[in-house]
Amino acid sequence: MNSLVSLVGSGPGDPELLTIKARRLIDEADAVLHDKLPGEQIIETIPEEKREDVGKRAGGERTSQEYTNGRLVELAEDGKRVVRLKGGDPFVFGRGGEEMTYLADHGIDFEVVPGISSALAGPALAGIPTTHRDHASCVSFVTGHEDPTKDESAVDWGALAATGGTIVVLMGVGKLPDYTAALREAGMDDETPVALVERASRPDQRVVTGTLDSIADVADEEGVEPPAITVIGGVVGKRERSEAHQ
Ligand code: SAH
Repeated sequence: MNSLVSLVGSGPGDPELLTIKARRLIDEADAVLHDKLPGEQIIETIPEEKREDVGKRAGGERTSQEYTNGRLVELAEDGKRVVRLKGGDPFVFGRGGEEMTYLADHGIDFEVVPGISSALAGPALAGIPTTHRDHASCVSFVTGHEDPTKDESAVDWGALAATGGTIVVLMGVGKLPDYTAALREAGMDDETPVALVERASRPDQRVVTGTLDSIADVADEEGVEPPAITVIGGVVGKRERSEAHQ
């Protein structure tokens, strides 16, 4: 039997932002391996008997990437139709690349089903255009997880500041004070507008705004928590609100 694992992006959390293909593959799957990021609203649409939470194990410990990789191969070799469901897009900071390599190395056929990344959906749902003719002709997607003070940081914040484009930070709540400081040191204006989009597309989505100088304090005061997207740049000042963009 030809086994196939589908690496599927779930979008930012609103079930209506799943692709039609994602919905069909979830419905047809024998097993759906997911973590927390797709969000409750989507996870609860998957029959309990076929979903497996590989985000954490009983006891609260995080499931290792090795376990997830091994489980995907095991289910596929059993002839099961497997969906590996990932928040947003599977290849944007989602370890989808690593899982694909593991599957390929083990001779398992796979397909990749893109999802709407929170990197794009977050700003859009907050009424912030990521590009704008007058403000930004490029966008950088960057992880905020790295410690900007460590010497071998993989993120060159100075180079990002120099692009003059929009900077969208994922996993960027914990180290907000560090990378906003790094950008200011690199010469970015203190008054550059910044927005945090928390739980984009979910019923309790919240947008908090400030400047490069103030946002770390604002986030602290407002108790902003992951998952949230940080949007930095002039485009944040173009934000428009309507009923749909609270
Ligand atoms: N593959 C995912 C990103 C995984 S990294 C994607 O394409 O969206 C995890 C980070 O994604 C979180 O720390 C947060 O920065 C962001 N994120 C994911 N879903 C989000 C949501 N609904 N609202 C805000 N940020 C989100």
